[in-house]
Amino acid sequence: MNMQKKIVVLGAGESGVGAAILAKSKGFDIFVSDKGQVSSTYSKILNDYNIPFEEGKHSEDRILEANEIIKSPGIPDSAPLVKKLVSLDVPVISEIEFAGRYSKAKMICITGSNGKTTTTLLIYHMLKKAGINVGLAGNIGHSLARQVAENDFTHYVVELSSFQLDGMQQFKADIAILMNITPDHLDRYDYKMGNYIDSKFRIIQNQTENDAFIFCQDDEIITKELQQISVQVQKHPFSIYECLPKGASLKNEDLIIKNDKINLNMKQRELSLKGKHNTYNSMAAGIAGSILGIRNEVIRESLSDFKGVEHRLEKLKSISGVDFINDSKATNINSTWYALESMDDRTIWIVGGVDKGNDYSELMDLVKEKVEAIVCLGVDNTKIHQAFEGVINTIVNTESMKDAVKVAFDLANDDATVLLSPACASFDLFKSYEDRGKQFKEEVGKL
Ligand code: ADP
Repeated sequence: MNMQKKIVVLGAGESGVGAAILAKSKGFDIFVSDKGQVSSTYSKILNDYNIPFEEGKHSEDRILEANEIIKSPGIPDSAPLVKKLVSLDVPVISEIEFAGRYSKAKMICITGSNGKTTTTLLIYHMLKKAGINVGLAGNIGHSLARQVAENDFTHYVVELSSFQLDGMQQFKADIAILMNITPDHLDRYDYKMGNYIDSKFRIIQNQTENDAFIFCQDDEIITKELQQISVQVQKHPFSIYECLPKGASLKNEDLIIKNDKINLNMKQRELSLKGKHNTYNSMAAGIAGSILGIRNEVIRESLSDFKGVEHRLEKLKSISGVDFINDSKATNINSTWYALESMDDRTIWIVGGVDKGNDYSELMDLVKEKVEAIVCLGVDNTKIHQAFEGVINTIVNTESMKDAVKVAFDLANDDATVLLSPACASFDLFKSYEDRGKQFKEEVGKL
């Protein structure tokens, strides 16, 4: 019956290929089009599944015949082809929207400007430990659509960017989590913060009073928006400043999670992820676990033994009394603020790279309190010198990870902590933040 319906997938990456596999398995007439080159991994998969595709171009005639388009989140709505499709009333949806139609699994969905990956993996870890048949999807791991086609789970933990949310209309999260909203990607939202906020709030669209919404009560943008819209869903706020009757809060040194299913009390120091931002992440994960009926002991254990995520405040082994922390994913001031905040004093801070308009004065108080020496790692370190000369006595320039690690280790003098938290993008000296973090770990390993 589906043979009549033509689906075109734009973009042959993880999500597009997954959507094509699912569409094929449901009997649709499917075609994949990618304006760039398709990687050999994905072209092989498409061939194996006998899915027709083109690369290096978009054949408009064929694409305009589609009854529905599944668009990769990487393609902006402003692309001429997408505009044309929309003007012709061809529905343009995301892979997650499409996959959601074919799965009865419980969807636990996480969005926010920061902390998505960490919270998603923490919840996945907890559900696995609880023995739940769970898949990991969205921005991480295999696409949701491919898993639904090949190996449907009873639960999915799904990391959602605002770009994915933009292509979702009927999809419903059983548990929606909104970590925070700070300006990001505004170029894709007509430079209007309101549009970006609306996009993030799509995480709760279609939710009913039987569903749950977990959000940060300390985030003014979120709470303000919630005052303006009416929502049916059950609200589960978390806060590190307020003591909440329902949700998660801090009291003295304890993390408390309370709702009609749970009353959990655990020492904050038992949390394996350190720092304020990670307390938020742990709170969100703990509430999600409680809503799913996971036992207190399992929640507590998961929050204490989670290994963390590579390149995000990742603790490496100590060498001669010196601790090393890899926070290469911190590519802006906001993330580095949280990293420094979580440090004890006597930090040797490796910082620098491609600055996206940083205002280092936002870090000044923390730097004064915690940083003993700065090791600049970038091609142009002028702004870092300008910001911190006269405040920090030792500021050294380096141009390779090997030198940066060696200099930092010498400065650490047997007991300080070396923190790589660059507050900058990596592409002046490295391929990516992953490459930068990897090189850091390799050089530390050679000490
Ligand atoms: P995302 O997937 O949203 O980019 P990650 O979990 O990968 O988030 O974390 C990216 C960076 O943001 C980390 O280096 C960390 O320092 C910082 N971070 C993590 N969680 C939070 C949070 N809840 N609030 C603010 N910053 C955070």
